[in-house]
Order: sequence, then structure tokens, then C-alpha cells
Amino acid sequence: MTLSALGRFPALRPRRLRQSPALRALVAETRLSTDQLVLPLFARPGRKVRREVPAMPGVFQLSPDELLQEAAKARATGVRAVLLFGIPDRKDAKASGAYARNGIVQQTVRLLKKEVPDLVVITDVCLCEYMEHGHCGIVRRDAKGARILNDPTLKLLAQTAASHADAGADIVAPSDMMDGRVRAIREKLDAGGFADTPILSYAAKFASAFYGPFREAAESAPKFGDRRSYQMDAANAREALREVALDIEEGADMVMVKPALACLDLIYRVKAEFGYPTAAYAVSGEYSMVKAAAAKRWIDERAVTMESLLAMRRAGADTVITYAAMDVARWLRES
Ligand SMILES: [Zn+2]
Repeated sequence: MTLSALGRFPALRPRRLRQSPALRALVAETRLSTDQLVLPLFARPGRKVRREVPAMPGVFQLSPDELLQEAAKARATGVRAVLLFGIPDRKDAKASGAYARNGIVQQTVRLLKKEVPDLVVITDVCLCEYMEHGHCGIVRRDAKGARILNDPTLKLLAQTAASHADAGADIVAPSDMMDGRVRAIREKLDAGGFADTPILSYAAKFASAFYGPFREAAESAPKFGDRRSYQMDAANAREALREVALDIEEGADMVMVKPALACLDLIYRVKAEFGYPTAAYAVSGEYSMVKAAAAKRWIDERAVTMESLLAMRRAGADTVITYAAMDVARWLRES
């Protein structure tokens, strides 16, 4: 498979990732540095709200004012990018909060881009935090039970991504695993005047038990069933490559493998096969396991964290999304 067969202009615009020093640094292929770290942050409504997630020591749900402080602190330690998740006041059956003009993510993006303009703001594009049932798509219940509808969901995802771009998001990151979402988002962005907004696709996202602590952080656990009808089966590597190929063909500028440590083989294969900017998401379970073991003094937190991230880079990840980003930036500066 050659790169030239994987996409075409105008969906494919390599210049999207060359627009700023921060973006170029973010996708540099050979260095291990703070430039390549992304810190996930959780925004919730209110003021002066700073609520620690019990299963993730050091991770907080933050109101926009507090999140701004956290983002500015991250920037000051050298972290150049954040990935935003939103926890709305109200959830409903069509995820209205996900694409509301003044939704929690949209508000927070505007604030961040105003106050810390050189911080790259990536937004997670999904509906699960905003759906009353906690699934990533529209649900239809019939005699056969509840089904997650693919095609009707695409419109809402595209609308969500466009509203993030309109608020000033530097990159939009669809994480739902619906078929065709990257194309739907690309078309909506291009039609809305956002042809230069890159898409970071959660291309190979597995239905993983390592996401447990995140669902507590994002308050997005499904109320019924599970996500196995849309997220991937951990047994399948060739299917992961097909998923990545599809997303690139549809216009993804960057692709992600998630989780990271349990999928190092896929990070390697994805990088080797496609040569695209590749992100590894060191997910909540990976972070919490290190924290828990370190709290018992069973392992050295710093050494284990750095070794894990190094393994992701070695496997081929250009960008590493980690809840430990600020600690890592400090450690890199000290070393
Ligand atoms: Zn979701």
C-alpha cells in the first residue's frame, strides 16, 4: 500500500499539520521530548470546581477557570497540547450538549485559545458523555433489544466537530468508532470553512478493560450493554490495520491506537504500514495501575512511567497522550 493511494486533495491536506511550530513539533517522528506529550483534561460546568477522580490520583474534573490554570501550568512545564473532554450539566437522548454553541467543551476551548493561544487544543469528539444512556451513538430499542445506530449518529458527530472547530479547536479527535465518521466530519469541516483543521482519529480503538477509571472521570459508563458492537475486539490486528486505512482514506491527518501498552505491536504495525503521524493513548488503567503500585512502593513511579512511554515511542508512536504529561515534562527537564 502506498501513501499516494490513501487519500486525495482536498480531504488530504498535509499542510494542516505544518501550521505552527507546536503542531510540527507534535508530529515530529524521531525525538523524545515534552513536545510530543498530550495531557487529557476534563471540563465540567461551574466556577472554582476541582474534583479529584478517586481512581486516578492527580486527575481532576475542572471548571473552565480551574482548567485554564491547569492548562497554563502544563504549558509552563513544557507540555504543548491538551485533549479536552466535557462533562455536561444535563444529558439527553440526542447528546445536545455535545454540539451546543456554548457547551462545556466549546466554552473551555474559547477560553484556552484566548488565554494560552500557543497551547494546541485537541477536542475529543464523541457523544457518550452527553447521552443519557452513555453510548457513543444514537440508540434504537426494538424487539431485538437496543442497537447503536451508525449512520444517524454521523450527523451529530460532524456537528460536534464543527462546533469545536468554530470555538477554535486546533485538532478534532473523533473517538466513537462509528463507520464513516471521519469522512462525515471532514466534509462538514470543509463545508464550514475549516479545511485547515486536522482530524486525529481514534482509528484502532479496542473495547478495553483498561478504560475503567476513565469512565469514572468522564461519567460516561454505558447504562446498559457494552461498547463491543462498535469498539474493536482485542484479538484482531489485521482488522485494526483496515480501520486505520479506512480512516486515512476518509481524511484523517493523524491516527491513534488505544490503549497503548497492550497494543505496542499495533503501534509498530500501523507506523510501519502507513507512516502516518501516530498517537498512542496511555489510558486511565495504565496510569492508575502505576499510581496504585507506586503508592504501595512496589514500583518506582518515575522509572516505570518513563520506560512505558519510551516503549510507545520505540514502537513508533510520534505522540503520546498521558495523564502523567506534566510529571514527565518535569522529569525530562531534570534529566
Ligand atoms: Zn464515546
